[in-house]
Amino acid sequence: MPSTCNIEIFTTVDFSIFPISMRELIDKLESTQILPKEEFAELLLCNDDYLFERARFKAQEIYGNKIFMRGLIEFTNHCKNDCYYCGLRAGNAHAQRYRLTKQQILECCKQGYPLGFRTFVLQGGEDPHYTDDILVEIVREIKAEYPDCAITLSIGERDYKSYERLFNAGTDRYLLRHETANDEHYGTLHPSKMSSANRKKCLHDLKKIGYQVGCGFMVGSPNQTIEHIIDDLMFIKELEPQMVGIGPFIPHSDTPFKDKKAGSLRLTLNILAILRLMQPNLLMPATTALGTLDAQGRELGVRAGANVVMPNLSPPDVRKKYLLYDNKICTGDEAAECVTCMQGRMKKIGYEIAITRGDALMNL
Ligand code: SAH
Ligand code: SF4
Repeated sequence: MPSTCNIEIFTTVDFSIFPISMRELIDKLESTQILPKEEFAELLLCNDDYLFERARFKAQEIYGNKIFMRGLIEFTNHCKNDCYYCGLRAGNAHAQRYRLTKQQILECCKQGYPLGFRTFVLQGGEDPHYTDDILVEIVREIKAEYPDCAITLSIGERDYKSYERLFNAGTDRYLLRHETANDEHYGTLHPSKMSSANRKKCLHDLKKIGYQVGCGFMVGSPNQTIEHIIDDLMFIKELEPQMVGIGPFIPHSDTPFKDKKAGSLRLTLNILAILRLMQPNLLMPATTALGTLDAQGRELGVRAGANVVMPNLSPPDVRKKYLLYDNKICTGDEAAECVTCMQGRMKKIGYEIAITRGDALMNL
C-alpha cells in the first residue's frame, strides 16, 4: 500500500460531469422542497431506502412518534357518479346499497369517542339524499355532543354555497382527492360530465372558505404515467393542502377496470416519502388500500413518512357493502378490535397513537 495517495489525480476530475447521486437528490429535495421535473422522475423510481429514512425523520421532527387516528364512518354507498375505477359507481348493479340515519351516525361517534377518536370522517358516495339541510343537522349534532372533536367530510363535489353552509355548521376538514391533475388522464378515468377543472375548483373553493383541505390520488390508476405523477406533485405544491391521501389503485371486479393491474407498493411508498420531504407538515394516511395491497402496507407507509391511520367506525353490518375495490381489509371487525389492532401495529414499529384531534402543525 502506498503511504500517500495521489490527490492530484482526484482534483483534476470534474465531478460536475457525473449525474447527481440518488442520495444527493434526496438531500437536495429535503433542503429545497422542490426539484426539477427530471429529478422528480428519477426519485419516483428510486430503490434506495434512504428516501424512507429521511422522510420518517422529517415526520418525526414535527410530529414525534405520534400517529393520528381518524374514525371513518362510511355513511352511504349510493353514488350518482360513474367513476370507472370505483365499486360504488352508479352503474354497478351488484352493489347492495345502504344509507345510515343521523341516529346511526351518532351511534358510531358514541362508540368511537371512548376508544380515543377525536376526529370523525364522514365519507360516502355522491348521494343526493343527503341535502345540505340533512348534513347541516348531522354536523351540528355531532359538534354539540363532541365539541372537542374535528369533523371531516368526504362526500365529493358540491357547489360553493353548500360547502359554505357545511363549514358554518361546524365541519373542520374536507377530503376530496383530485385523482389526477392531468385533464386528459382524468378523462380516461371518468365519464365526460366530470372534469378535472371542476375537481380543482372545488378544492380551491374549500380552501377559500377556510376548511383544512385534503387532495390526493391513486397510484397506478389505469393510463397513469410518471409525467402525470409529477404534475400531481406540482399541483399539490401549488395548492398546499393540509392533508394528502395517497393509496394504490386496486381493481374492483364489477367495474370497467376489473382487469387492470393494481398499483405498485414501492411507487406508493416513494410518493409518500417525496411528499413528506416536499411539505413536511402534511397529514398523510397510511391508507386501507395500502394495507389491502400488502399485509404490512400501513406499517411500511408510516415508515415512509405517513402519520395518520383511519380505522373503520362504520357499523359492522354495512362494512362489506362499502367496497371501493376488491378484497378490502377490516370489513369484519368491530371498531374496538380495529383500534386495538392498529395500536399494536404502530407500537411494534415504535409509534404511538395519539388521543387528539391531530390538526396540522406549522412547517419547520
Ligand atoms: N365519493 C367521494 C368519496 C368516496 S371515494 C369522492 O369520490 O371523493 C374515496 C376515494 O376512494 C376516491 O377519491 C378514490 O381515490 C378512492 N378509490 C375509489 N376506487 C378505488 C379503487 N378501485 N382503488 C383504490 N382507491 C379507490
Ligand atoms: Fe362515487 Fe366517489 Fe366512487 Fe366516484 S369515487 S363513483 S364519486 S364514491
